[in-house]
Amino acid sequence: MRVDCHCDTVMLYEKYQSLACMPEAHIDYQRLREHLDLSFFAIWLDQEKCGKELSVEFQRVQDLLREDVSRQAGLDFLLWREQLDAPADKLILIAMEGAEPLGENWQENLKTYYEQGLRLVGPTWNYATRFAGSNLSGGGLTEQGRELVEHCNRMGILLDAAHISEEALDDMLACSRAPILDSHTVCAAVCDDWARSINDRQLIALAEKGGVAAITMVPQFLGGAGDLEQFCRHVEYAVSLIGSAHVAIGGDYDGADLVPELAGIQQLPNVYARLRQRGMAEADLQQVMGGSVASLLKQVLPKGLGD
Ligand SMILES: [Zn+2]
Repeated sequence: MRVDCHCDTVMLYEKYQSLACMPEAHIDYQRLREHLDLSFFAIWLDQEKCGKELSVEFQRVQDLLREDVSRQAGLDFLLWREQLDAPADKLILIAMEGAEPLGENWQENLKTYYEQGLRLVGPTWNYATRFAGSNLSGGGLTEQGRELVEHCNRMGILLDAAHISEEALDDMLACSRAPILDSHTVCAAVCDDWARSINDRQLIALAEKGGVAAITMVPQFLGGAGDLEQFCRHVEYAVSLIGSAHVAIGGDYDGADLVPELAGIQQLPNVYARLRQRGMAEADLQQVMGGSVASLLKQVLPKGLGD
C-alpha cells in the first residue's frame, strides 16, 4: 500500500470548488488515484481568519470534502479497518489538525464528526488547546486531554502527535491504549533546528507502543541541503533506530513549499527509487511507502462492516 500521512490540500477549497483536478497543487484526486492508495486529508482552520465558531466552520469544510469525494468515481473515505484488506477504491482519511474545533461541547462534537467520517485527531496545532500543550507553548495533557485520548481509543480514532509538546506526547504515550501516529515530523538526531522534530527517546517510545513516525518533505525542517538525499537520511535514520514497521511518509503536501524533487505526489516514485538506490531492502521500502501505516490503522480503526 502507498500511503501519505499528511496534506493540507483541503485548504484549497478557498480557491477551488472541487479538489478533483488542480495541476499546480501537490495533490488532487486525479493524481491521488494514480499514485496513492490512501491519503490523510487534514482539516486545519485558521483561527485568526475564521470569522465564525470553529466547530461550525469545521462542519462546513468537512461537508464540502464529503460532498466532493462522493461525486468522484473510485474514491472513498476510510472508515473501517476491513476496508484495508481489499480496498476497491482509493481511500481518504479525514483528520483534524488542532482540536480547537471540538470546542466546549467536545464529546458531542467528536461523536458527530466521527459519525461523519473523522478518523484522526491531533490535540493541538501550534497553540495550546483545552486538551494539550503544543510544541511552541509546552505543557502536558490536561484532564480533558486525557479524556479525549480515552474517547478516541474507544471510538477507533487515531491520535496524532505531530504538533503536541514533548511533555504532552509522554503523557499521551502513558495513557493511550492504542498506538499513536506522528503524521509529519523529522528526526532530531539528523536535524534539530525545528521545535517539531522528534528525538530518539520519543521515537523509541512511540515505536514500542506500536506507533508510526511519518517523515515530512519540508526543506527547512529536514536541514542540510533540504533535498531528496536529506529526506532519505531522515527516513533511513528512523528505520535504523526503530525499524521500518514504524516509519512512513507524511509529506505536508499543499501545506508548505516542499523539496523540489518531491513537490507533488506524482514524485513519490522518486522516494522509492532513491531509497532503493541508497540500499534500502524491498521489505523495508514496502513498510515505509505505506505498509506500516496500513498495519497501524488495522489495529486502531473501528470494525465496521458486517458487525
Ligand atoms: Zn502541521
